[in-house]
Amino acid sequence: MITLDGSMGEGGGQVLRTALSLSLVTGQPFVLDRIRAGRQKPGLARQHLTCVLAAAEVGNAAVEGAELGSQRLAFKPRGLRAGDYAFAIGTAGSTTLVLQTLLPALLCANAPSTLQLSGGTHNPLAPPFDFLAKSFAPALRAMGVSLDLQLVRHGFAPAGGGAIACTIAPAKPQPVEFLQREAVGLPRARVLLAKIQASVGEREVHVVRRRLDLRAEQVHIEHVDSHGPGNMVLLEFANRFVTEVIGVPGERGTSAEQVAEQACALAKRYLASDAPVGEHLADQLLLPMAMAGGGVFRTLEPTLHTRTNAEVIERFVPVKFAFAEDGAAWRVSVAGRT
Ligand code: AMP
Repeated sequence: MITLDGSMGEGGGQVLRTALSLSLVTGQPFVLDRIRAGRQKPGLARQHLTCVLAAAEVGNAAVEGAELGSQRLAFKPRGLRAGDYAFAIGTAGSTTLVLQTLLPALLCANAPSTLQLSGGTHNPLAPPFDFLAKSFAPALRAMGVSLDLQLVRHGFAPAGGGAIACTIAPAKPQPVEFLQREAVGLPRARVLLAKIQASVGEREVHVVRRRLDLRAEQVHIEHVDSHGPGNMVLLEFANRFVTEVIGVPGERGTSAEQVAEQACALAKRYLASDAPVGEHLADQLLLPMAMAGGGVFRTLEPTLHTRTNAEVIERFVPVKFAFAEDGAAWRVSVAGRT
């Protein structure tokens, strides 16, 4: 039995999600105490609870502590099942994080699966759907894993009501090297607006064009359908091996200019290094790399979130991550541990 302390490192939801994923993949049960102890409202929120219930269904698991607010969870998988699954988060909780939790297990199942998830698709503090489609999925494709992703309807916080669908064929991820950037084409900026006046998008575009020196044809405003209002600035940097997508959601009380400035500051930080992998993709590549048993990438300085994720993975899989400074970037690699 693996015992984990949810306050370790960054102390967020990733400790739980990685534990669920790898418990399903390896068949090892775990107990997690002090769930999300590092967050303002600790314990299982609705997105985390959906991850637990969905993982329990996919892995036919025995579970204790699967309740809203619960700070302790015991999870014992009893066999993976491929299938056609549908899970509703019930709020604007992130559908993309639920997908990422189930994906490793469904790659190990004995037949293809489909997932239909409803909730938020463009949330704060989670990968926007566009990140999944343009950055995460192509990186996995390079590892031999093909994901068929579909955005059915946009869902923004707090209304939610979005939906995504996904088909997953079983595959074993293969080691990859993402070391060089090699830009392909010009950067693009997209501003999503749902039930929000056009002037917000125009103000965001104005800032993005000025700060990143973009021409009019590199910038697009998209009016999208959704249950509630929503806005997101998405900046896309396509590279030969990996594409970086920076997504910053508009929020009540934050001006359009501030939202755009925040996205541009993140873009400038990415562009100041020569690493292909951005900080969030770095987090998300660790688990498939551990499944592959090898691989290396260059990225920005690893966050506490990334290091915590590596630590949790090492508890389940016999691998060891190495983090080393490498010029204006960092090199992250994984190797089997004997
Ligand atoms: P946690 O905060 O522990 O619940 O984990 C959040 C997860 O969402 C991590 O894997 C982050 O890398 C990811 N994430 C947060 N914000 C973004 C973003 N803007 N783009 C892509 N991924 C994100």
